[in-house]
Amino acid sequence: ESSTPGQPGSSAASERGPEAGVRDLNMYIDGDWRASATGRWIETKDPYTNRVWARIPEAGAADVDAAVRAANAAFSDGPWARMTASDRGLLLHRLGDVIAANAQVLADLEVRDNGKLMVEMLGQMKYLPRWFQYYGGLADKIEGSVPPTDKVGMFNYVVHEPIGVVGAITPWNSPLLLTVWKLAPALAAGNTVVVKPSEFASASMLGLARLFAEAGFPKGVVNVVTGYGAEAGRALVEHPLVERIAFTGSDLGGAKISEAAGRQFKRVSLELGGKSPHIVFADADIDSAVKGVISGIFAAAGQTCMAGSRLLLHASIHDAFVEKLVARMREARLGDPRAADTDVGPIATEPQLAKVLDYIEIAKAEGARCVLGGKRASDPRLGEGWFVEPTIFTGVTNQMRIAREEVFGPLLSIMTFETDDEAVAIANDTPYGLAAGFWTTDLGRALNLPRRLRAGTVWVNAYRVVSYLAPFGGFKNSGIGRENGLAAIHEYLETKSVFINPKSSITNPFTLQ
Ligand code: NAD
Repeated sequence: ESSTPGQPGSSAASERGPEAGVRDLNMYIDGDWRASATGRWIETKDPYTNRVWARIPEAGAADVDAAVRAANAAFSDGPWARMTASDRGLLLHRLGDVIAANAQVLADLEVRDNGKLMVEMLGQMKYLPRWFQYYGGLADKIEGSVPPTDKVGMFNYVVHEPIGVVGAITPWNSPLLLTVWKLAPALAAGNTVVVKPSEFASASMLGLARLFAEAGFPKGVVNVVTGYGAEAGRALVEHPLVERIAFTGSDLGGAKISEAAGRQFKRVSLELGGKSPHIVFADADIDSAVKGVISGIFAAAGQTCMAGSRLLLHASIHDAFVEKLVARMREARLGDPRAADTDVGPIATEPQLAKVLDYIEIAKAEGARCVLGGKRASDPRLGEGWFVEPTIFTGVTNQMRIAREEVFGPLLSIMTFETDDEAVAIANDTPYGLAAGFWTTDLGRALNLPRRLRAGTVWVNAYRVVSYLAPFGGFKNSGIGRENGLAAIHEYLETKSVFINPKSSITNPFTLQ
């Protein structure tokens, strides 16, 4: 029922402005909408207005336990467990259609929670169905095999089976997109899922839960618990009935989750942070490269894991490039993320605002030269919104903290290089390895350089391109595992070898057969 109270996406939740009143959004467990057994709530603020617009339940271990048990029951028995892979695929397709019809409602919820531009979030919401269509199509194409056997008279076959209950733990920056990267392959493979979205941006996941119900998913297949990482997230990771954890978030959170999961030998995938290099060679199409650099670091106010936060400019073009970039960014309009003419929205959370402002001071203290921005935006038009001026530092060295640590904000560090070897060395001199981009018109460089860059995604004359068809993930500290593409479905499958001995005879019970 789209108008049931307490469900985001119902008409009242999509009203705009704080004057619409604060709404209590319930969790989705075993097909029911529930408050937390703790009785506690978390207030969620709109980054543009700095006002509370909703409250989400603060789940404790008992809520997580209920959700995991529901998911385990749905996995073990019931309509989902008995459904053919083809029917599962159809259900995912149907969900894709329902999402397409509700894209605007979901985008409204995301913009309210994280302040990203409506144009960006609506684009992401309209793209989500592709994941369900693609993995829905794959659901009945997971084929086993019959390998040759050296066991005379025996038959060996190999099958791929779902793992069980998957715990999906996700961040606030692209809440649904990054959750769907997990949900679509996990469900196509036949698993059930408990999602713990970010405490800063849970509303859209609750909105999506409503659409799962509308598409006809049996209860317990997808459950959503809201709450803090240290409590609800931790309880999910440590729950003995959860077999696999799919995490996107900070490296700090990833390390904790990896340790806790490791103690119980749980399967884990981690999509973590980055400090991605963006290189512009002297022969590049400079005007396009300026736009590419802007999309890499100032789109989404730099709050993307793949942000091109280290700009490496060939020394011969440095001054001209910086001049063009600064001139273009001076014109960038900060404002209401819902307005069509806004270029840069607010920072999504208050702790993140403090962190970005801290890094600006750190950069200044380290001796970097601030050539644009460098402070909280104070235009009265922006009210109490959490805005930071797009900020550019030149004269950065790769050893400075702003070149090594992820800021996750509109803060660009510029360095120079003389040779291709030097560019590659600086680009790879980072603990991270999520993405890299470079701009050139030299075909040889376009063909040869990607091999030398230690990153999970490389863009040539492009930036910030992702697709359901293309594997995404990190080298080094940027994570473990890959999402998207054909292979990602195997991240949600176990492999089983079956030996059948038709004679049911054993030659010697005390040796390997
Ligand atoms: P975060 O690590 O603080 O939180 C992510 C999620 O983990 C939240 O739901 C949080 O509640 C939960 N969590 C935190 N500690 C936990 C614990 N001990 N046990 C269980 N759950 C826990 O990250 P964030 O600030 O929400 O997101 C920003 C980070 O996400 C950035 O570092 C960014 O680079 C990264 N990110 C990575 C990708 C990628 O695909 N590689 C994409 C987007 C964001």
